[in-house]
Amino acid sequence: MNTRSSGGPGGRAVVVGASMAGLCAARVLSEHFGSVTVIDRDQLTTDAGRRPHVPQGRQPHLLLHAGTRLLEGWFPGVIEELYAGGATPFDICRDFYWHQGGGPLIRPATHMVGPVMSRPFLETTVRRRVANLPGVTLRGGAPAEGVLTGDHGTRITGVRLSDGSALDCELLVDATGRQARSLGWLKELGYGEPPTSVVTVDTHYVSRIYRRGRRPARDWKAAAVIGAPGTRRLAMALPWEGDRWIVALVGVNGELPPMDEAGRLAFARSLDSPVIADVMAASEPLGTAVGHRFVANQRRHVEHMRRHPTGWVLIGDAVCSLDPVHGQGMSTAALQAEALGQALQQSRSVDRTFARRYFRAAAGSVAVAWSVTVGSDFAYPGTRGKKPPGTDLINRYMNRVTLAAQHDEAVCVRFSEIAGMVRRPEWLLTPPCVLRVLRLSRRGPARVPA
Ligand SMILES: Cc1cc2nc3c(=O)[nH]c(=O)nc-3n(C[C@H](O)[C@H](O)[C@H](O)COP(=O)(O)OP(=O)(O)OC[C@H]3O[C@@H](n4cnc5c(N)ncnc54)[C@H](O)[C@@H]3O)c2cc1C
Repeated sequence: MNTRSSGGPGGRAVVVGASMAGLCAARVLSEHFGSVTVIDRDQLTTDAGRRPHVPQGRQPHLLLHAGTRLLEGWFPGVIEELYAGGATPFDICRDFYWHQGGGPLIRPATHMVGPVMSRPFLETTVRRRVANLPGVTLRGGAPAEGVLTGDHGTRITGVRLSDGSALDCELLVDATGRQARSLGWLKELGYGEPPTSVVTVDTHYVSRIYRRGRRPARDWKAAAVIGAPGTRRLAMALPWEGDRWIVALVGVNGELPPMDEAGRLAFARSLDSPVIADVMAASEPLGTAVGHRFVANQRRHVEHMRRHPTGWVLIGDAVCSLDPVHGQGMSTAALQAEALGQALQQSRSVDRTFARRYFRAAAGSVAVAWSVTVGSDFAYPGTRGKKPPGTDLINRYMNRVTLAAQHDEAVCVRFSEIAGMVRRPEWLLTPPCVLRVLRLSRRGPARVPA
């Protein structure tokens, strides 16, 4: 379908939710609709301030390479723009001190270079680009409250806003995040909910910002220390624009990192490597610590929904909300938007065939992200839910991979390509790779450089 290029009257699409999923969706919709309106209940200011309904924006967000690549394709020059605004150019191997399995991963230079920055800075930069697209309108302070329907409730024809006004549309994209607000509105029309998978991990973040100076001396730009699963502890330090660090201490399976600085430092010191504690000890704290709890991975299998109206789709966390420690949320949203664009390209109208095509294609990348995240979460003994078959075996193999990646550049790059979502997990399962992993992992953890 291409109402824009057909020169016809052009339909209107409405995206509810102007966070990362909604912005990516608006970009692909702008190629197919004469008018795209993106609404959000938050005011959408031009500064990078935090948003009340995106509380996770105060926590570290790593944009994986899959997401970086798509954003640059949709908004040429956006990566340079982020660097110009203070984002740190970052090679996920070369510049990342990643300590897991008792030692640091080796750090070869790779093709996976992208910006690291605060989530609000990324979002406002992308939002500005979206606002400049022809035919796209952004409206903040506009909570959606329901839908308008036609054809006896079988077709969505618009969105009702809280001020009593309405927006007509041919296609409604629900990008309202984990709560997926439109499912409640569809329920009122008699539609059922999609089958949903839930895996409870109970992850707690406690993050604080610090001024980033020269100390501690380092040859890396970001660090993560992943404790053995029994410790249920990990931590990361990512550079933010404005010469800042954000340091997150993370507890899994209900482990609660302390909020006070002395307790936080002790938590960081309890980890396998002192790098995060050293960053905290050497840097001036700015502001207070902020917590965030993530209870469960949640995947709505929209591709298996028996009935839903035409002119309606879901995207982003509304489809799949993943344990954030794996950093896949924004990239998964971008991959879903890519699938949405492809489905629009292949469809004549926004009918059921279009929706099925989109849901099926998006389910492909969602399934990979789900298996990686949930599989890794099951390494922690308190994780609850349906364990994908073979998870324990894969996790034992992944322990060997993290050991081999401490010695071997090729294994480390493969591991990072999967972590960066540019390759599927099978990439680590080719026979030559398995043999290499089994051989090299026998060396045990790498010695930490003095
Ligand atoms: C602690 C934490 C850390 C994370 N770290 C990473 C990371 O390192 N890397 C990564 O890629 N991802 C990370 N994520 C995930 C990432 O934040 C999300 O996947 C990403 O924001 C995409 O979400 P979304 O756009 O679907 O929904 P959200 O970001 O939740 O946005 C939903 C939007 O919908 C709006 N909305 C809701 N209801 C209405 C309504 N009725 N009317 C109008 N607007 C409405 C809200 O105001 C909001 O703007 C992390 C998440 C958490 C919780």
